[in-house]
Amino acid sequence: MEPPLITTTTTPTTTLQDRVAIVTGASRGIGRAIALHLATLGAKLVINYTSPSSQTHAEQLLSQINSLSPSPSSTTPRAIIVQADISDETQVKNLFNTAEQAFNTQPHIVITSAGILDPTYSSLFDIETSEFDRIFSVNARGTFLCIKEAANRVKRGGGGRIVTVSSSLTASFGVGYGAYTASKAAVDAMTKILAKELKGSRITVNALAPGPIATDMFFDGKSEEVVQKAIDINPLGRLGQVEDVAPVVGFLVSDAAEWINGQIIRVNGGYV
Ligand code: NAP
Repeated sequence: MEPPLITTTTTPTTTLQDRVAIVTGASRGIGRAIALHLATLGAKLVINYTSPSSQTHAEQLLSQINSLSPSPSSTTPRAIIVQADISDETQVKNLFNTAEQAFNTQPHIVITSAGILDPTYSSLFDIETSEFDRIFSVNARGTFLCIKEAANRVKRGGGGRIVTVSSSLTASFGVGYGAYTASKAAVDAMTKILAKELKGSRITVNALAPGPIATDMFFDGKSEEVVQKAIDINPLGRLGQVEDVAPVVGFLVSDAAEWINGQIIRVNGGYV
């Protein structure tokens, strides 16, 4: 019998030329590194932040992206900044409206990196209920509001990507992280379910679940001893850097990664 005819297909690429990416929490830390990396791959960026004190950080990122290469179009920018609290539904809608107006297109990529942590690392029997609610309102409700909007607006038919940001704590269950871990477990659940609910859209939905990454969030409230412990338990003997994470997202949102869908991708050096 004749072997089946092998046809050649175009290899999917990792370029993001002219795709519009919204990155929440892009003023600092992991979100900032992701936004910059996607820009180096050719994407146009929507840089979101919330604190008035972070405006300068957002502006610095904007000029860094603009210096990579000018916008190929005289009518649309290379990147824009949108201040929005992701736990507020009206502000999230405004974030997406502003993005669509600025770039004259629906977004192709949405990354929900904005998140907060309880810097007192209180146990579940000590944490104030108001603090529990605050964490859930940003991490769980905020992610929900963003992915709901994304699911309705991201381009269908190929190349549409939603990446949430969870945490490896949903696998390691560290003490003192109860509310935070529970809020990220909600992110894991929503990610896996939305990926199935978007059947037929060719939009993929995945969660990035980093381990300890050297950012403001990681160092906030931790003693040198606690930081050292995180280094010692890691097989690679160091903390992660934002540059360890951003290229993983760059691949996840590329055409080459379409078959990765509904997954929780742990990026943590192997500690869990
Ligand atoms: P980070 O350095 O503290 O940065 C947090 C970012 O989120 C900032 O840009 C902040 O904006 C933004 N943000 C916070 N609340 C917001 C809100 N209500 N609306 C819009 N933006 C908001 O934190 P990171 O370490 O980069 O963390 C990024 C994500 O990774 C988070 O979801 C975090 O849970 C997750 N993560 C981090 C680690 C780690 O070890 N660092 C590990 C696992 C998972 P402003 O600058 O305006 O405050």
